[in-house]
Amino acid sequence: MFQTSPISQRVARVEESATLAIDAKAKALKASGVDVIGFGAGEPDFPTPEFIVDAAVKAARDPKNHKYTPAVGLLELREAISTKTLRDSKVEVSPNQIIVTNGGKHAIFNTVLTLVDEGDEVLIPSPFWTTYPELVKLAGGTPVQVPTTYEMGYKVTPELLERYVTGKTKLFIHVSPSNPTGALYSKDETKALGEYLLQKNIFVMTDEIYEHLTYDGLTSMSLLEAVPELQEKTVIVNGVAKTYAMTGWRIGWMISPPEIHKAASNLQSQVTSNISNVSQRAAQAALEADLSCVVEMRNAFNRRRKAMVSMLSEVEGVKTLMPEGAFYVFPEVSGVFGREIAGKKINSSMDLTEVILDQAKVAVVPGEAFGAPGHLRLSYALSDESLVEGLERIQKLLGS
Ligand code: PMP
Repeated sequence: MFQTSPISQRVARVEESATLAIDAKAKALKASGVDVIGFGAGEPDFPTPEFIVDAAVKAARDPKNHKYTPAVGLLELREAISTKTLRDSKVEVSPNQIIVTNGGKHAIFNTVLTLVDEGDEVLIPSPFWTTYPELVKLAGGTPVQVPTTYEMGYKVTPELLERYVTGKTKLFIHVSPSNPTGALYSKDETKALGEYLLQKNIFVMTDEIYEHLTYDGLTSMSLLEAVPELQEKTVIVNGVAKTYAMTGWRIGWMISPPEIHKAASNLQSQVTSNISNVSQRAAQAALEADLSCVVEMRNAFNRRRKAMVSMLSEVEGVKTLMPEGAFYVFPEVSGVFGREIAGKKINSSMDLTEVILDQAKVAVVPGEAFGAPGHLRLSYALSDESLVEGLERIQKLLGS
């Protein structure tokens, strides 16, 4: 058959990351001299703690790290991940179940590609993080959105899932605290969800990347701590990016039962080989230390979270749930629809995002990117001053 497109059907299905695109646009505007405030990126504004950087510098000088190492990752790092997983998720895992990946995103890629076949359905609570459905599409699977609302605290229940489970359901994707909503499942909610998935015999990918960013004395609970019997069906995905302000170092990992681990290791051995040894040594230093550097960053995020929710609540037509984790606020903005702002009729959160960027020079992400029209996502992982300045601009534009 004559091919008209150079692009494979598989890759043509994948859309650009809206969050990265908006962040790039904001950074480009800034570089051209425009005073833009970016609420777009999901990345801490802090530098990586000094002791972690020191470990990397030392590693860079050691010729051992200039060579190929095992595709699944350095043993010492996998041991540190195993110890950390017992400390934080209360799950005992062997280093032989761990693959070190190029960030959490790559762990999700490996997991989805390893588990999902053409025609498989994958349940994804929405609002969702943009990468999940795109990688499911790449694998040939069908992302099945399970919609949640402001009133539900943006969380799914077994009763809700029951309406979306079919004979083709292969995988459920869980993330708590959530990007983009900041929703945190309680212990009881986690247990109920886990028991339901176990009973339905559905595989689970649980994304624990925001585990340490919880507020008001609340803590996150691993799905595997709640229901250990799920271990044979569950892949844990995690990474150092959010906890240690290490987004640029690109270290994540997946923890899976032996059969899945073997298949995903084969995949990784052909796709990337090992991840940068220098970054792996930095991640090892981060994980072997206690969590005191995290406490400091979390306190700053908590202060900004409260400031952001309070300032957004003053804006006409905007409803904001107090997020319990991660570093995002996800206001419901449909109350603004129908209004005319700076000569433009606002009919969607996409319209609103555009007018906020054009008029107030503030970058936010439209809910459409997360399968949740009628919302905006604002990250509060930026400096206190920029946060207040950006929100004042929004207040001025939309009226408070
Ligand atoms: N999971 C979630 C829910 C995320 O928000 C992110 C980053 N935005 C990741 C995984 C991946 O992070 P990284 O690839 O930087 O480790």
